[in-house]
Amino acid sequence: MNYQRELDMLLAKLEKSGEVPRLLLHSCCAPCSSYVLEYLSDYFEITVFYYNPNIFPESEYTKRILEQQTLIGEMQVKYPISFLAGHYDREKFYKMAEGLEHLKEGGERCLKCYELRLRESAQIAKKGGFDYFTTTLTISPLKNADRLNEIGKKMEEEYGVTYLQSDFKKKNGYKRSIELSKEFNLYRQDYCGCEFSLAEAQKRRNYEK
Ligand code: SF4
Repeated sequence: MNYQRELDMLLAKLEKSGEVPRLLLHSCCAPCSSYVLEYLSDYFEITVFYYNPNIFPESEYTKRILEQQTLIGEMQVKYPISFLAGHYDREKFYKMAEGLEHLKEGGERCLKCYELRLRESAQIAKKGGFDYFTTTLTISPLKNADRLNEIGKKMEEEYGVTYLQSDFKKKNGYKRSIELSKEFNLYRQDYCGCEFSLAEAQKRRNYEK
């Protein structure tokens, strides 16, 4: 499926109708959200939902959440962007990751991690009466958009809120996120988020020395 073409078609339809739906956008971090916000805030009234109980250590979590709020405050957008913080429920993440700690990034643990965050997003979208929900995660070249979209559609079926399918790395989305990160002087971490991905990054750093 060409997610970008489908999204373009939807955006053209919205523009024509003058409708501005409410979108709950799960965000993993400010840099990844930068392009998505620039792109989608012309069409949706967005609430950024920061729900990332995977992030380790807590100081990193604090850094990323503050950076996210700063970015929202500084971006010039057509429709206003709101912010909502989820619970920093680390126990939930570790329970989910049990037995999968040794796996490399991109494996089974990550699929479950996506589902954990998308499930919470779908529940919040349902409670808040949002028209759509989605995630910034497909912007990463390290994340599989097919699997993310499959999980999103499964959550759509379970909770009855439309999941906006995406592949935000298309149309040079990833490249644009790097440009915007420079423009807004954003902190860009070099690991995905959990302590297992931090250990992988540390090995990488040692190897590169
Ligand atoms: S590597 Fe990233 S996606 Fe995978 S479990 Fe860790 S934080 Fe989640």
